[in-house]
Amino acid sequence: DFKSAKEFIEALEKKNPGEGDFVQAMGEIVESVWDWLKSDDGKPYLEANILSRFVEPERVVMFRVVWQDDDGATRVNRGYRVQFNSACGPYKGGLRFHPSVTLDILKFLGAEQVLKNRLTGLPIGGGKGGSDFNPKGKSDNEVMRFCQAFMTEMFRHIGPNTDVPAGDIGVAGREVGFLFGMYKKLHNRFEGILTGKPALLGGSNLRPEATGYGVVYFADAILRQAQSEDSGDESPLKGLTVAASGSGNVAIYLTQKLIELGAKVVTLSDSSGSIYDKEGIDDDKLEFIMDLKLNRRGRMSEYADKYDGVEYMEGERPWSVKCDIAFPCATQNELEKEDAEKLVENGVKCVCEGANMPSTPEAIEVFQSKKVLFGPAKAANAGGVGVSALEMSQNSMRLSWSREEVDEKLHSIMKSIHETCVENGKVDGEDHVDYVKGANLGAFRQVAEAMYQQGAV
Ligand code: GLU
Repeated sequence: DFKSAKEFIEALEKKNPGEGDFVQAMGEIVESVWDWLKSDDGKPYLEANILSRFVEPERVVMFRVVWQDDDGATRVNRGYRVQFNSACGPYKGGLRFHPSVTLDILKFLGAEQVLKNRLTGLPIGGGKGGSDFNPKGKSDNEVMRFCQAFMTEMFRHIGPNTDVPAGDIGVAGREVGFLFGMYKKLHNRFEGILTGKPALLGGSNLRPEATGYGVVYFADAILRQAQSEDSGDESPLKGLTVAASGSGNVAIYLTQKLIELGAKVVTLSDSSGSIYDKEGIDDDKLEFIMDLKLNRRGRMSEYADKYDGVEYMEGERPWSVKCDIAFPCATQNELEKEDAEKLVENGVKCVCEGANMPSTPEAIEVFQSKKVLFGPAKAANAGGVGVSALEMSQNSMRLSWSREEVDEKLHSIMKSIHETCVENGKVDGEDHVDYVKGANLGAFRQVAEAMYQQGAV
C-alpha cells in the first residue's frame, strides 16, 4: 500500500541494498507506470500486486567458475544468470564478461531486458547473465577455457524453451561459439540454445549488425515523427552530424548504417579515450576500425595515429563536440548531466541510446526539459534481441532467412516499437512524445497482462 512511486522506490532501495544501478533502472520504470496502475485501467493489476512481483527476479543463479590460464595457474571468477521474467516466453538476454559485472549490474540489465524484449512483439521473456571475467589481454585459449568452464555450470539452467543467452559486452561470435560447443558436448544436442551464433552453427544473418542498424532505424522513425512533412525515401538523418561513443559491435554497425544513409559520424570512443574526426568516418576508415576492433582487439588511439586531422581526446568521452544527434553506444551511465548540458548547448536535436542505460536520470531530465528527442535504450537498441528472437525461430524451423528477409523484419520490428512508444508516450495536448514513458508503459502493460493471465505464480 504505497502512496506514491517515490515511496515504492524507497522501499525497493531498502530491499536491494547497494544495488544502485538496479534501483535506477527499476525506479524509472515504476515512475512511468505508476499513474496508469492507479487508474481504472490498472486496477486489476494493482490488486493482483503485479508491480511488487515484477520487481523481483524469478530466479538468480550464481556460481563459481574455475579455469586455468596459459601459465597453468588456477583462476576463479563468479558467474551469474538472472532469470528475470518468463511471463511472455523463455528468459532471453545476453551474457556480459567484464570486470565491472556484479549482481546489481545484471539485475538492472535483466529488468531492462524484460520490457525491451516485450517491445519487440516476439515471444521472449527477459534475463541476463555474465561474469566478472576480464577478456582484455587474454589469449584465445584462455577465453575458450573460461567459456567452457562457465558453460559446465550454466548448461543445467538453460535450454531452448527455458532460457536462451546471447552476447553482450565482452561476448560475441567467438565466445558464443565456444559456449555452444561445450553445451552441445554436455547435452549431446545440436539445438538453438544461444543466439548470436556464428553462421555455421545456426546463427542468423544480420545478427551482428542488428543492434546498430536497429538504433539507426529507430532514430529515423523519431525524426520522421517530429517533422511536419514526410521526407519519403530520403532519411531525415541525411546530412546530419553525429557523435557516437563506443567502438564495439553496436557502434561499428551503427556507423556503417549512418554512412549509408548519408550522415556524418565524427566521434567514436573506447575506455581510454575518444577520437574526433571532423571530416567524418568514411567507408575506408570504417573498414580500418572493423579490422582494428573486431579482429585485432586494438585501441581507438591507433585510428588517431593513422589519419591526419583526427583529434584524440585521451580519457574523455565525446560529448563536448558539436553535433545534431548523439548515440551513446558504450556502457551504462556514460552520459551525465554536464554532458547533456554541453550537448544541448551545442545544439543537439536528438539522442538515441545504443548501449543499455547510458544516460543518467539527471541527463535524461536535461534532454526532456529542453525538448530534445530522446530514444531510450529499451526501445532504441531492441533490434539486437529482436533478431535474436528471429534466430530462435529459424533454428526451430531448421532453416535460414536471407539478409534481406531479416533486414525487412528488423525494420518492421523497429517501426512497431516506435508506434508503441508513440501510443503510450504522447503528452496530452502536445505533439511531443515522451519515449521513456512510452517504452516503459507500452511494454509493462503487456507483461502485466501476461502475468495476470497466468495467475498468482
Ligand atoms: N545483449 C543484447 C541486449 O542488451 C542482446 C541480447 C540478446 O540478443 O538476447 O539486448
